[in-house]
Amino acid sequence: MSAAAEPSASHTASDPGGGYRIAHDLLDSGAPDGDPATAWQRRRDDYRLVGPLNRRNFTVIVVGTGLAGAGCAAALGELGYTVHSFTYHDAPRRAHSVAAQGGINAARARTVDNDSLHRFVVDTVKGGDYRAREADVYRLAEESVRVIDHLDAIGAPFAREYGGTLATRSFGGVQVSRTYYTRGQTGQQLQVAASQALLRQVAAGTVTLHTRQEMLDLIVADGRAQGIVVRDLVTGELSAQTAHAVVLATGGYGTVFYQSTLARQCNATAAWRAHRRGALLASPSFVQFHPTALPVSAPWQSKTTLMSESLRNDGRIWVPAAAGDDRPPGQIPDAERDYYLERKYPRFGNLTPRDVASRAAREQIESGHGVGPLRNSVYLDFADALARHGRDTIAERYGNLFSMYHDATGEDPYRQPMRIAPAAHFTMGGLWSNYDQMTSIPGLFVGGEAGWGYHGANRLGANSLLSACVDGWFTLPYAVPDYLAGLLGTPPLAQDDEAVITTAQQVQERIDALTGVGGTVGPGVFHRELGEILYRGCGVARSTDSLTAALGEIGELRERFWSQLRVTGSPGTLNPELEKAGRVADFLELAELMCVDALDRDESCGAHFRVDHQTGDGEALRDDEHWCFASAWETRPDGTAVRHREPLHFTAVPLATRNYR
Ligand SMILES: Cc1cc2nc3c(=O)[nH]c(=O)nc-3n(C[C@H](O)[C@H](O)[C@H](O)COP(=O)(O)OP(=O)(O)OC[C@H]3O[C@@H](n4cnc5c(N)ncnc54)[C@H](O)[C@@H]3O)c2cc1C
Repeated sequence: MSAAAEPSASHTASDPGGGYRIAHDLLDSGAPDGDPATAWQRRRDDYRLVGPLNRRNFTVIVVGTGLAGAGCAAALGELGYTVHSFTYHDAPRRAHSVAAQGGINAARARTVDNDSLHRFVVDTVKGGDYRAREADVYRLAEESVRVIDHLDAIGAPFAREYGGTLATRSFGGVQVSRTYYTRGQTGQQLQVAASQALLRQVAAGTVTLHTRQEMLDLIVADGRAQGIVVRDLVTGELSAQTAHAVVLATGGYGTVFYQSTLARQCNATAAWRAHRRGALLASPSFVQFHPTALPVSAPWQSKTTLMSESLRNDGRIWVPAAAGDDRPPGQIPDAERDYYLERKYPRFGNLTPRDVASRAAREQIESGHGVGPLRNSVYLDFADALARHGRDTIAERYGNLFSMYHDATGEDPYRQPMRIAPAAHFTMGGLWSNYDQMTSIPGLFVGGEAGWGYHGANRLGANSLLSACVDGWFTLPYAVPDYLAGLLGTPPLAQDDEAVITTAQQVQERIDALTGVGGTVGPGVFHRELGEILYRGCGVARSTDSLTAALGEIGELRERFWSQLRVTGSPGTLNPELEKAGRVADFLELAELMCVDALDRDESCGAHFRVDHQTGDGEALRDDEHWCFASAWETRPDGTAVRHREPLHFTAVPLATRNYR
């Protein structure tokens, strides 16, 4: 097994202009050579084991109790390791995974639609526009088969057919039915099951659960991740936990856009602080905009709400054929409607992948075909499905989503079409890791949405619950012990080690800096402004001009943040304003790197759509000759961004132009 590549200042680097540098080293994925279909089995056979009697002597920190973190902590606990599980929530089951609605994919081929493991890999690699790591995708496909059985066994109440077999439905970017679901609340039900499994280990004494504790920094000693510094969100007290290994399963950073489908609390701090300690960050600009979110309806709105992609199984997306037509939808006859996805992509129709559907919606809205009071949405219409299947069947499939829509908008989707629009949703970018999920800091592992490898430049719907569960239950519990085996007999870092004390001091200094600015503007104001800059400059479509402008605006916003910020309350107690301020400070740095990454990647691929690189039909135009690699960024202590790269190789799914027409 090859070691993780460590960035170092000694790498030769050139300066392309624009304030960042390019390193000339190549990162090693560490994926086994040869047939990707057998790579995972071969790697598992090579992993070292830790004997049952030695396991309790190893301490592992798992930050995050979502599907990735809860699974990982529960699995390591069940194996007998000493686990410390951290979350800023008040209970593990509050993790943002509860929000997932539509389903979880698996290549089990139980229906007779000619699905297969290989087809899953093809769909996922192609869906990600050839910017994922193929070997990781193969592993995802392979483990998807038993993840469903596992989740079923720990209590997830999957929908079933009349005969008792598990039911499936279709999601975007595929032509088969491989999505397992529990009505419109799949994430919630999986999260309940995973949290229960975690709490079982808490009761068994293998896992110590630390709720309402926010990780604010990573402790790196002797070149290894050996602990974290956390702030107790109730008392404000700082403390450190040391361990043999640290796993970050801290979710995605879509909230950097302020208006996003994620919970307001989701943030990038854990990953960003690890990045500032040396962990490379892969493809930060690869952000998915979900085509079926509710449109923003007012400037003071605090988030957007997602309508699940599963609705595209039965809903038809359309706009008035004539720009500016403001008749109510019921008065626009069929012949005067443009079902633009069905027209442009007859093979996939309303189930095109998200990047394609979002871009198409944006085109319609920008060319004056948008609907609703602000003309910033398109219709998702169930009239045909209701006529075909009847209200009861549609209610059975999507009842809770329809009620949610009704509650949020006051409009009844059984009687009139929903109005939907693209919104920031999922981050394909994340901490770079090798095939063993280890970041560029030895001993620091990553799982779930905080990582990067599976989804390339565009994630397929229902593949994220899958990657979180596979990482949590089946990848990390093999890979982490392999690393621990090399540390047999080594005690965890002492609490009074200089690295622990220095890191805690630095966290305190950052808190003092935030509370000491003494300005008049709350952190939320800066966050909202940052989101607007990102939507304009680094959104569904990007250009050299928009990205350059965004970089200037973010720099100026950062200066204002550090001279005008006001944090009310005191740091030594419950203080949501201080929590926000720290997260916004990190978002401001991350946003800059996102724009640098988007500017540097001089091609379009998946959701990274550079208007200067498109086909005659307006599709993303990849440049495999120059850009068939994953960018992995280092931020040096002085703030200079340096791009490293991992070449991507495709053997099972040869490079080809994506085509959903
Ligand atoms: C509205 C919505 C619907 C979705 N629907 C689907 C779907 O149908 N199918 C699908 O496949 N995917 C879906 N997704 C995506 C999917 O839900 C997520 O990608 C996935 O659940 C992420 O799981 P995770 O374990 O990586 O992170 P999360 O579930 O986000 O958990 C993160 C955890 O980290 C903790 N944490 C974070 N930072 C810190 C810190 N600094 N200190 C301490 N703790 C910290 C949090 O407390 C939390 O416990 C959806 C996403 C959204 C937003």
